[in-house]
Amino acid sequence: MLLDMFFPRRCVGCSQMIESDKAVCDACLMNIRFSYDDFGTKSELWAKCNLLFPLENAFALMIFDEVGLGRELIHQLKYDGIESIGKIFADWTAQRLNFGEDKPDLLVTIPLHPKKQRIRGYNQLHLYAEELSKFYDIPFDHQALKRVKFQRKAQAKRNAEERKIKGQAFALNKDIRGKHILLIDDVITTGNTMSAAAWELLKNENKLSILVMAVDL
Ligand SMILES: [Zn+2]
Repeated sequence: MLLDMFFPRRCVGCSQMIESDKAVCDACLMNIRFSYDDFGTKSELWAKCNLLFPLENAFALMIFDEVGLGRELIHQLKYDGIESIGKIFADWTAQRLNFGEDKPDLLVTIPLHPKKQRIRGYNQLHLYAEELSKFYDIPFDHQALKRVKFQRKAQAKRNAEERKIKGQAFALNKDIRGKHILLIDDVITTGNTMSAAAWELLKNENKLSILVMAVDL
C-alpha cells in the first residue's frame, strides 16, 4: 500500500522520529501491555476459551486496554490501512512465543467478510500470519475457512446466545484432517467469533490452539 511507504516514520505513541521498521519508540514500547501468559493451559485466556470450545493452548500478544498503545496500533492496522503493523506484531510475537513440544502444524486466520475485505483492500491478519509462518516454519492456509450465511430456517431455531453470533458462521473450505491448527484473530472479546470458527475447524479430528494479537478480558 502507498501508506506503507511512509510508515512508520514517527512513533504512534509520541510522534518522535523512529526507524522505518518500527511502530513505536523504545520508551513507548514500555507502555504496551504485553501478555506474559505462557503459551499453555494455565492462562486466563485459555480458561475463558475452554468454556466455549475444546482447545490445546492459547496465546495473546497484548492486553487490549482502554488507554494502551496496543489498541491504537490495532486500530491503525485495521482501519487506517497500515498493513505493515502486522509484520511488527509478528516480530513481537516471535520474540515471545515458543511452542516447545506442542508446535501446531497449520496456521489459519479468521476470514473477513468479503465485502469488508474489498473495502479494506486486505485482511489485517494475513501479513501477520505470513510472517509467523516463515518464522516458525508452519504452513499458512488463508483459505481454510470461509464465511457462510445462516439459513433462515435454522436461524429460527437458534437460541439467544447463538443469535448473537449471527453473521459469524464459518465453513471449512477444504478437507483438513488430523491437524493441530493454530487459529489466529486480532482481538478476542466475547470469544463468539473464535468459537464459531473453532467448532468448524474441530471437525475431522483436528485439534486447535489459538493466537490473538490482543485479548480484551
Ligand atoms: Zn514514542
